[in-house]
Amino acid sequence: MNNSERRRKKIIAGNWKMNKTPAQATLYIGSLLPKIENIDGADIILCVPFTDIHAAAAAVSGTPIKIGAQNVHYAEAGAYTGEISAAMLRECGVEYVVVGHSERRGYFGETDVTVNLRARAALKGGLKVILCVGEDIDERESGITDELVTMQLYTALLGVTKDELERVIIAYEPIWAIGTGKTATSEQAECECALIRDLLTKKYGEAGQKTAILYGGSMNASNAAELLSKENIDGGLIGGASLKEDDFAAIIKAAGTI
Ligand code: PEP
Repeated sequence: MNNSERRRKKIIAGNWKMNKTPAQATLYIGSLLPKIENIDGADIILCVPFTDIHAAAAAVSGTPIKIGAQNVHYAEAGAYTGEISAAMLRECGVEYVVVGHSERRGYFGETDVTVNLRARAALKGGLKVILCVGEDIDERESGITDELVTMQLYTALLGVTKDELERVIIAYEPIWAIGTGKTATSEQAECECALIRDLLTKKYGEAGQKTAILYGGSMNASNAAELLSKENIDGGLIGGASLKEDDFAAIIKAAGTI
């Protein structure tokens, strides 16, 4: 099964991180929409801060853009100050959630185990999960990238069923490429995405062939087409370049024409 048989459309997901107020979110979406009007070759997701969800969901209503959150807690409710549940997100119009982003792992102590708990809770709560994995520079230079990615992926997917896998997107995000302007070469990115495809297929059979695998790490309008042309790269998770409508629209256009 090749890429075109697997997925008709690429997926372009923006991760705003801790940027934009609700008013800025509304303005951004109003300005992005006319720029991508005639492009239907890519599914578009905006992963916005919790406080922007309401405004962003209203602004994308009736358009093809979907809203994602940037994290979710693993309990259904309870004494977890500062956390947000899957049901809360769903009720606000969220369809996707990023789980295991390297900034959550690095700054907020998330582990492969909590990533697994969050992913399972999100799936149980009806959300689609964008599950992030990827190595840091020391791990790459030590030659353990494949082992690390394998461990992260398989731990995060423990207990995730084949049916649930249909609502999982994997994002391969080398930490050394995130927010650094230093993109992985398309060969490096394809190599890890192909490994992920192989691991998914070993665990889930044919279902693993259908899972979308994104690349993330300083993707921009100039390098998107090359990265997205690779067999196992089904889209991008985009941080910095998703903050400006023109840059994000250019990436969506690049994806829509591949
Ligand atoms: C990200 O936040 O997931 C990301 C890939 O960021 P950037 O595009 O800025 O490297």
